[in-house]
Amino acid sequence: MKPEELLCEGALRLGVELTPQMAGLFMRYLSELKVWNRKINLTSLRDDRDIVIGHFLDSISAARFVPAGSRLLDIGSGAGFPGIPIKIISPALGVTLLDSAHKKVTFMREVIRALGLAGVTAMWGRAEDEGNGIERHSFDRVITRAVGPIPDTLRLSEPYLAAGGRIILMRGQRGGDEWEAAETRMKKGFRLAERSEFKLPFGGQSRVIFAFEMV
Ligand code: SAM
Repeated sequence: MKPEELLCEGALRLGVELTPQMAGLFMRYLSELKVWNRKINLTSLRDDRDIVIGHFLDSISAARFVPAGSRLLDIGSGAGFPGIPIKIISPALGVTLLDSAHKKVTFMREVIRALGLAGVTAMWGRAEDEGNGIERHSFDRVITRAVGPIPDTLRLSEPYLAAGGRIILMRGQRGGDEWEAAETRMKKGFRLAERSEFKLPFGGQSRVIFAFEMV
């Protein structure tokens, strides 16, 4: 299957119907990622199929946790995952992408420019740095994929949440065990509102997505 067919079919299996325009944006993203990845290390996934399943479809799988039109902060976005794919399929979102690695922020800015995305900003800085220029208490959703242990990630995310917001954590197949181990050590203040366990399409890996609320 060609990358675009794989993407569209996989997205459908995740309940998301991509328009031809969205699919085109993903293919441009794929091409930018492969070109830049030859010069700077952005991802260990090199093959089209692996990138489509492991980055694009994985990111798309979290889109249902982000209501249309909300303000989304992606902490430790790296090469733009999951924030840029979620923005592509939900254009009315206001998205801020944060990463502490300059080269990754430069790449994300180039993708935003090349894809002509509006309402999305890539910022350089550390989440725990009070001077990073990102407004506190102003995001409806804070999302992270593969950024540190669960309790640390919750602590990093918490200051940015608006009242009534949710923290979305995307974890790999050991996510359930991680949470069970972390739960007893966690400070009070977070409530697990939703937990979704599934496998990525086309024999992809197991995933767990957690949604936390502040109490
Ligand atoms: N979320 C992306 C993904 O799933 O492909 C990247 C994951 S990568 C393993 C972790 C990223 O988080 C790195 O790009 C790193 O620079 C960034 N990072 C780690 N700690 C951070 C912090 N405290 N504040 C901002 N970015 C951070």
